[in-house]
Amino acid sequence: MKKLCNTKGFTLVELVVTILILGILMFLVVMRIGSFSETAAERTCEYNRRSLLSTVSLYEADLKVNGKTLTNDMLDLDVDSSEFNQKFIQGAKPQCPDGGIYSIGYFENGEVSIYCSVHAPKP
Ligand SMILES: [Zn+2]
Repeated sequence: MKKLCNTKGFTLVELVVTILILGILMFLVVMRIGSFSETAAERTCEYNRRSLLSTVSLYEADLKVNGKTLTNDMLDLDVDSSEFNQKFIQGAKPQCPDGGIYSIGYFENGEVSIYCSVHAPKP
């Protein structure tokens, strides 16, 4: 006569514990991937701001060659008809991956600051 007790396969407790452990691992992986994409967005934004800073330096040098001086209102990214946007940005205005809005601050001492409303807000 055969035994009725099944010795092969997993018990219900073993299956529940395995599914629980897999669930915890999936949760950790999802959290990790989320932080990676956040870091990528911040780095892209930082790159965009550095790129804008270089562009402002080029514009400032171009103005100096022509005997003009840079002022804060010449750097408004929202004025599409400005010389800065026409000549240097050329319709390729950088976009913050998180939807932040860039603005440029030019100070009389020659210091330039690039702000992002999400990642580097104005102080
Ligand atoms: Zn940003």
